Amino acid sequence: MILVYTESEEGKIKKIALEAVSYAKGIADQMGTSVTAVAINANDTSELGKYGASKVLEVSDDKLNKFNGEAYADVIGQAAKSEGAKVIVLTSSANSKFLAPTLAVNLEAGFVPNVVELPSSTSPFKVKHSVFTNKAFANTEITTDIKIVGIGKNSYGLKENETSATTEAFTANLDAHDFDMEVVSVDKATDTVTIADAEIVVSGGRGLKGPENWGMIEELADILGAATACSKPVSDMGWRPHSEHVGQTGKPVASNLYIAIGISGAIQHLAGINASKVKVVINNDPEAPFFKAADYGMVGDAFEIVPELNKKLKEF
Ligand code: FAD
Repeated sequence: MILVYTESEEGKIKKIALEAVSYAKGIADQMGTSVTAVAINANDTSELGKYGASKVLEVSDDKLNKFNGEAYADVIGQAAKSEGAKVIVLTSSANSKFLAPTLAVNLEAGFVPNVVELPSSTSPFKVKHSVFTNKAFANTEITTDIKIVGIGKNSYGLKENETSATTEAFTANLDAHDFDMEVVSVDKATDTVTIADAEIVVSGGRGLKGPENWGMIEELADILGAATACSKPVSDMGWRPHSEHVGQTGKPVASNLYIAIGISGAIQHLAGINASKVKVVINNDPEAPFFKAADYGMVGDAFEIVPELNKKLKEF
C-alpha cells in the first residue's frame, strides 16, 4: 500500500498534493497495490479519489491547525504503520521537507526529495531526482524496508484516475508533542496566487527601476492569473516583499510559464527558476544572459512592451 500525505492550506487541499496522489497512484499501479491518502484538517477531501486514492484517512484535530513538523510527521507515521505502508509519498514543499527527516527517522526509512519521475524499478526501488538546484539528476536506490519520496512540483503533473474512495476518520496519538508554541510571523505572499502553486509566474528585476513601476507587472499577473515574483536585489531594496524573492537563496519556481522582466539572468537567479517549463524574458540588453536560458525572448524596453502586452491580452 502506498500512503500519500495530502497537504492543505487553510483547509483546502493543495494542487501539489493532487500531483502527489497522481504520482502515488503511478507507483501503486507499478507495484499492484492501492493508494491511501492522509489529510490533516482538510475541509473537503472528495477530490482525492479523482486522482487515484482509494482510501482517505481524515485527521481532524485543532492542535494541528498550525503546522508542527514533529507532530505532523508523527501523524503520518502512525497512519503509515496502521495501514502497513511500504512507500510514502510527500510533496517537495517547505513543510514536507521540514517533516520528512523526522518521519524518516521515526520509521527508519530512506528519504529522497525532488523525485521527478516514477521509479525506474520498484524492486530494487530506484528513483530519479534532481540535485544541485535542478542542474543535474541522480538515480538513487532506497534500500530500507519503508521508502519515502518527495515529488518535485510540476514534474509528474496531474493525472486523473477516477477511483471510488472510502473515507475514514483517523485519530493520532499526539501526547508526545508540545503545542505550546507561538507563531511570531508568517511570511505569506499577499497574492491570491502563491508562487508555489502558480502555473504562471510574472517576475520583475532591477531593470524596472523602482517599486512605483510594479503596476504593469501586477496587471499582467492579474490578466494571466499568475503569481508575482522578483529577483533578490528587488526584495533586498524593499521594492517587493521577501516572500516574492526567487532564486538560489529565495523560493524555487517550477511553474509552467515563467516571465522574467528586466532580470539579467544571473546564475543564482536561474538556479531557482530553471525547473519552470517555459521561460520568457523581456530585456533591453540583447546580451543579457537570460536570453541563453529562455525559450522565448523579447529585446526591448519593458516600459513599452509590458503595457502593450497587457493591452493585447485584454483584447482576448
Ligand atoms: P540586474 O543584474 O541589475 O539586471 C537588470 C536587468 O534589467 C539587466 O539585464 C538590464 O539589461 C535590464 N533592464 C534595464 N532596464 C530595462 C528596461 N527598461 N527594460 C527591460 N530590461 C531592462 N539573485 C536572485 O535573483 N535570486 C537569488 O536567489 C540570488 N541569490 C544569490 C546568492 C548569492 C550567494 C549571490 C552572490 C547572489 C545572489 N543573487 C540572487 C544575486 C544575483 O547574482 C544578481 O545580482 C541578481 O539576480 C540580479 O538581479 P536583477 O537581474 O534584477 O538585476
